[in-house]
Amino acid sequence: MYRFNRSPAVPAAAAALTVAIFAVDALTELDVAIAVLYVGVVLMSVWIWPRRGVIAVMLFCMGLTLLAYLISHGFFKDEAALTRCLVSLAAIAITGFLAVKGQDATIALLQREEALNQARSQLAHASRVSTLGELTATIAHEVNQPLAAIVTHGQAGLRWLNREEPVLEEVRRAVDAMQQNAKRASEVIQRIRSMARPSAPTFVPLDVSQISAESCDLLGRELQRLHVKLRLDLPPGLPAVLADKVQLQQVLINLVMNAAQAMHEARTIAPVIEVRCGLTPEGMLFIEVADNGPGFSEEQLKQLFAAFFTTKKEGMGMGLAICRSILESLGGSIVAAHRKPQGALMTVQLPPIQGDEQ
Ligand code: ADP
Repeated sequence: MYRFNRSPAVPAAAAALTVAIFAVDALTELDVAIAVLYVGVVLMSVWIWPRRGVIAVMLFCMGLTLLAYLISHGFFKDEAALTRCLVSLAAIAITGFLAVKGQDATIALLQREEALNQARSQLAHASRVSTLGELTATIAHEVNQPLAAIVTHGQAGLRWLNREEPVLEEVRRAVDAMQQNAKRASEVIQRIRSMARPSAPTFVPLDVSQISAESCDLLGRELQRLHVKLRLDLPPGLPAVLADKVQLQQVLINLVMNAAQAMHEARTIAPVIEVRCGLTPEGMLFIEVADNGPGFSEEQLKQLFAAFFTTKKEGMGMGLAICRSILESLGGSIVAAHRKPQGALMTVQLPPIQGDEQ
């Protein structure tokens, strides 16, 4: 949105400038077109008011210019002064016209950008929901496992309680385990809900190692199902990045899922995915997702990030396009490359938060 200046300093300065120009224009006999300085007032008004306000200020300044001319010269004909007055009026009118046009163009540009951001976030949401759809079996398992554990611990607790001499220590332990499992189930649901919920992104400082770990955690079961081994190199203490957590998770999940699915489809022997985070020599944060699957052909490499490019039977072809748009909106990038001796290497780079952004 276009932000109008809300501080009272700008209107106060504009008012002071107007009074000063009017006083000098009306009460002194200077041979200069002092009223031209009203263009400054008109330009200041662009910060404070929308179109109608700017036009009103422009007309007001033109009125003051005429009034000052009448006060200082009356209806007597002073050609030089009249010319100066007309030049000032023209300058104020032209400035007002250009200022309104400029303001309209800026507002239109910002509205377009906002619509684009909204569309991007809706698309990202649609793709998240579709990924969640692919993960339903995993999610069901993730929730079911702690629920089953709760039942088992509950039964054990009851047995300890129903003994002739109840063993309260064991009952306490069972209730404790039940609580922990319930917490685990609720955390899984929480994570899924935050991915499924359509919400505007919130940018906060994030640790890329932690986000990578959490995303891989969410996919752990799916990787097990596809017999894919996961190797993580996620050092702690890296500088933070300013990003939306769900969006960054989405990028990681897309990359890891793509690697796992490509290897599964190609029946790769001993499939392994490596996720690595760190800092480049230039000080950028990087996240690498590497696999030992089929990799890409030269032709694929050229189109990988294009919308709707997919080689999967049920693919949408939006995953990498969305990853790229998310990363670019954060000032980052994503590059795909061949991995030697075999496989794909996706490298994400993101700018760390600078000292004054913290
Ligand atoms: P989708 O997953 O719906 O196909 P994406 O944009 O995520 O859409 O991926 C586009 C295509 O890129 C995939 O269909 C696949 O051919 C290719 N691809 C992505 N990652 C890999 C990878 N790690 N190994 C091989 N091919 C990949």
